Amino acid sequence: MRYLILSDIHANIDALEAVLAAAPPWDRALVLGDLVGYGGAPNAVIDRVRGLDPMAVIRGNHDKAACGLDDGSNFNQVARFAAAWTYQQLGPEYREYLRQLPQGPTEIDEQLEICHGAPFDEDHYIFDAMDAHRSLQTATRPVCLFGHTHLPVVFRAVDGEVEGAIGLPGTSARLGPERAMLNPGSVGQPRDGLRDAAYAVLDLEPDASTFEFRRVSYDIDRTQRLMREAELPVRLVERLAYGR
Ligand code: ZN
Repeated sequence: MRYLILSDIHANIDALEAVLAAAPPWDRALVLGDLVGYGGAPNAVIDRVRGLDPMAVIRGNHDKAACGLDDGSNFNQVARFAAAWTYQQLGPEYREYLRQLPQGPTEIDEQLEICHGAPFDEDHYIFDAMDAHRSLQTATRPVCLFGHTHLPVVFRAVDGEVEGAIGLPGTSARLGPERAMLNPGSVGQPRDGLRDAAYAVLDLEPDASTFEFRRVSYDIDRTQRLMREAELPVRLVERLAYGR
């Protein structure tokens, strides 16, 4: 089974369209949360995601804030502004769609589960080996996919230690019997210093699975223009160009 892995699209329709145009053939899509928030096209992104008929979509912290499930009080000022802006933009049925999204982790099959932040807490950020260690222990499946940090990475449990590696564009992580946590990076707001949209393709086989970290460029100028017209915070507009 080949899965298209999308995370942290953040209402960036141009980035999402570029990913879908560039992705190699896949069977089912998995969406790891934060469909909206920050970007200028929340309704269009939800429509496009629903049209993919994903096998699973889980909610992220920005999805909760944008539909009123969370008051965004733990957000910084620009994120809170964007959440309020998004709430205003969303049609009632789009808010309802976000409200009914399940909380991760969600088990996909015997090998695979997905979460937004961490398997033990949907809002927790996995940045380092210590967080990854706790996650590898609490995950119920050998392969656990996560998002939330916007950083492509793989963590593996090897002989009781956690090994971490950045998911460089175009590289593949081979998945063996050891447990692994993988983050595809963010479609709509990369933060690893590379501006291209990030996603992954997971080829899940019983013996030889691979997780390919992929990037694709998109029309950032157009995206930024639409965000400026929508009067979204300048900081959110500018960071797209730097991938930060
Ligand atoms: Zn996010």
